[in-house]
Amino acid sequence: GKTRVAGVVGQPIAHSMSPVLHNAWIAAAGLDAVYVPFGIAEGRFAAFVQGLRGGSVAGLNVTLPFKGEALAAADEATSRAAGARAANVLVFRPDGSILADNTDGLGLLAAFAEQAPGFDPKTGPVVILGAGGGARGAAAAFVEAGCPEVRIVNRTLAKAEEIATALGGTVRAYGLDQAGAAFEGANGLVNATSAGLANGGAIDVPLAATPEACVVMDMVYKPLTTPFLAGAQGLGRRTVDGLAMLIGQAIPSFEAFYGQTPPASVDVRTLAIQTLGL
Ligand code: NDP
Repeated sequence: GKTRVAGVVGQPIAHSMSPVLHNAWIAAAGLDAVYVPFGIAEGRFAAFVQGLRGGSVAGLNVTLPFKGEALAAADEATSRAAGARAANVLVFRPDGSILADNTDGLGLLAAFAEQAPGFDPKTGPVVILGAGGGARGAAAAFVEAGCPEVRIVNRTLAKAEEIATALGGTVRAYGLDQAGAAFEGANGLVNATSAGLANGGAIDVPLAATPEACVVMDMVYKPLTTPFLAGAQGLGRRTVDGLAMLIGQAIPSFEAFYGQTPPASVDVRTLAIQTLGL
């Protein structure tokens, strides 16, 4: 047969979980396929993608810092990718065209569905901390899921306002000093900042101002229970971790590349926990 090649492109790429997840699924499904990591220098991304056009690569996952460039490199984009202004999936079609998609939002909603049964984005406001690529994708996903109000809280207010303007009337912007007000009546809270990655600490927000029923999620998954999630659990809040989101975005990527759902027999969560040493 003709081996189907897909992969993940980013910089740095050495610690990406995507090859571990996809290759485990490929093996269990018995596919003639291989999924490889590509570390590409900034400035070479567009040439890399255009060079794969019409070739034997079925598709790519795209990670930092190329998600915006990936959208620009494609001929067509799904509404999810357009709304997020970023793509984490590029599908190389047989006719030579490239389709950009964004499955990060699907992964986020799947993580809530899996780890916080009963959570319904339609029933109340959600708060997103941060206004980078992850936050924008999360906001777009909640809007698309019918959330009545999305509140974006960011240290740099102008970046939150920019997302609110782009996504429309149900999205509101708050400064970090207004986080307590933003938390009032929230159904869900998502940390999409990179705060704490460097110093191991949690972003300093008044978690106690969230309602008791508020579900708290962190996009960061190393450690699995971040200081942010530990703080929420200490207050008795239900929590959702970033690993569930990572796996949740990989599943529709696999479907896009290979035209089938990943075999349920593989426990990719345990595999990822072991590989990452979590
Ligand atoms: P960006 O760099 O685009 O955005 C980072 C955001 O964090 C900005 O809004 C920034 O605020 C804020 N921030 C950083 N440091 C601080 C601080 N000390 N105090 C307050 N705010 C701070 O990152 P991404 O959006 O791409 O990613 C965010 C996080 O989500 C990362 O940790 C990433 O690994 C994770 N992620 C996880 C995914 C998953 O599948 N689990 C998917 C996507 C992302 P400001 O605008 O003021 O600078």
